[in-house]
Amino acid sequence: MAVDRVRARVRRGVLPLVRAGLDRLVGTARRLVRGAGEPRRGAALAVLAAAAALTAVRCAGPRRSAAPDVEVLLDRDLSSVEVALPGPYRVLDARGGTLADGARLKSGRLRARDRGLDLNGVPLTAETVLLAPEDDVELAYKGRTYAGDLRVRRDARGRLEVVNVVDVEEYLAGVLFSEMPANFPDEALRAQAVAARTYARYRLEHGEKLLRATDADQVYGGTTRLQERARALVAASRGLVLEVGGEPLCSYFMSTCGGATVDAPLVFTQTPKAGLAGVACDFCRESPKYRWTRTLAAGELARRLGVKEVAAIDVERDKFGHAIRFTVRGSGENRTFQGLDFRRAWNDGAGKEEQLPSPWARQLEVTRGGVRIDGAGFGHGVGLCQYGAAGQAKAGRGWREIIGHYYRGAQLVKRW
Ligand SMILES: [Zn+2]
Repeated sequence: MAVDRVRARVRRGVLPLVRAGLDRLVGTARRLVRGAGEPRRGAALAVLAAAAALTAVRCAGPRRSAAPDVEVLLDRDLSSVEVALPGPYRVLDARGGTLADGARLKSGRLRARDRGLDLNGVPLTAETVLLAPEDDVELAYKGRTYAGDLRVRRDARGRLEVVNVVDVEEYLAGVLFSEMPANFPDEALRAQAVAARTYARYRLEHGEKLLRATDADQVYGGTTRLQERARALVAASRGLVLEVGGEPLCSYFMSTCGGATVDAPLVFTQTPKAGLAGVACDFCRESPKYRWTRTLAAGELARRLGVKEVAAIDVERDKFGHAIRFTVRGSGENRTFQGLDFRRAWNDGAGKEEQLPSPWARQLEVTRGGVRIDGAGFGHGVGLCQYGAAGQAKAGRGWREIIGHYYRGAQLVKRW
């Protein structure tokens, strides 16, 4: 993997851009030297000398450090993988050795063989291959386009796993409008980019390295038609991540807090409170899920919760009134559920209109007719409130202020 990353960094980093610019300058100067009369030749030689000096300065001096790559799991357990590469590409093994290359791959099909893989029937002697477009050509996979490389690995059962290895800033541009509506204000989107970057970095440094391309981590659909706008919004905070005491923050975010966010440890018991303490938020009132009401027959709720009967439900609350724990009382033993577990059970097999958007039951009533909840918010309630971020942006706050509101006590640190 190290080799892949180094390759990707060198290819996509700033150095090639500097080189390309200087190459063009030198090329122009050389053409002038060859074709011009004495006075212009003198000027051209001066340009050449300046370019040489600039090369020395740029290569020796400080330069923008390359962003790390992230590995995003797109698919697993496939029997074959279809991919198109509309420009020059190479197929590399795990050590960076070239297995194949070409000017363009209109339609490539990777399949597992008894050992290794084959590409359009041609054997590749590797269990893992990296399809690496040259330059900035985007590859196509399952109707979407992706920046970076595609890594295909054959597992022990001969099934294929597909991973997009991509510069983290490019990944964030692909996440932004999947995680927050594109019509939200720019400052809210810039705040979202910081939250998403911080989360990605947290995952890079903790546990399983593969980021899932779904809401299990962050929704990522590759490059979109809005990619240039997404890149510009992400670039406002390039390399900036949130930390607490030098450690990356697990920067949770959700749609709508409903009036206040929740202390992280009350929801995710292993998560420290630092940087993720509950705060009041009056800014998400425009969310369609700011307030809601849901009802369910008591017998059906009992079935979903796995209890005999729901006669009454006691709710344990935090200082903001969030419902943290639900104790269900009935003819059998009392059972206690954490908020998210209660929501998960309620929503199990429920239609869209019946689902609890969040665990925050402001009022809960058990009657013969069923269980009625008047609730607030959408999501787990921890960290940045997206509708709140939009409300703050509309009130004239900038992305740094928005980030500071929801991740109080966290520091913004430039890491690349
Ligand atoms: Zn809110």
